[in-house]
Amino acid sequence: MIRGFKRQRIPEKILKAFEKIERNNFIPKEYRAEAYKDVALPIGYGQTISQPYTISFMLSILELRNNQKILEVGSGSGYVLALINEISKNSELFGIERIRGLAEISRKVLERYNGIKIIYGDGSKGLPEKAPFDRIIVSAAANEIPQKLLQQLSIGGIMVAPVRNSIVKIKKFVNENKIEKYPGFVFVPLVGG
Ligand code: SAH
Repeated sequence: MIRGFKRQRIPEKILKAFEKIERNNFIPKEYRAEAYKDVALPIGYGQTISQPYTISFMLSILELRNNQKILEVGSGSGYVLALINEISKNSELFGIERIRGLAEISRKVLERYNGIKIIYGDGSKGLPEKAPFDRIIVSAAANEIPQKLLQQLSIGGIMVAPVRNSIVKIKKFVNENKIEKYPGFVFVPLVGG
């Protein structure tokens, strides 16, 4: 799995996180034999844990630093939050998940990390009570850039969100935001809005 990422120039710090966090712990028993293949896998409730390469790409363009306030919308199994927690030290991490069962399972798996909070609810509206965030990562695809989430990003902050089949990176500025688009990815849909 990691060997493939190296060819794709994923930063060392992110590779280390993938080596350290056991994907095995975030997927149902019946799929564990495939935990370390670079493929998306079911996590129940019709959802999937994203393909590791896709996650590594999103995390690399997210430009994580230490001491940040970070939101993940669609935190599912909690795997991405565990990776972020490894890359971005001393940060405050929030995950929102709309499927109660997944919110509960991920809360258990992430119990030992006290910097990570999972909220059960509709993340398409973000988490206004904790805004602004330095970084926002959206793990399910919307049809357009989620404006409500963008409003909850601090100036100079970065949001990485799938829009249809592209990963979009938005850096927020006072006037015009900087937007980059990377096509060719597959995500489960962001529900609600
Ligand atoms: N990062 C997750 C990926 C899970 S797949 C992981 O590592 O496992 C995307 C998740 O987004 C699914 O669990 C789905 O239930 C969730 N989701 C979709 N729309 C949502 C919404 N509006 N609010 C919160 N979660 C949502």
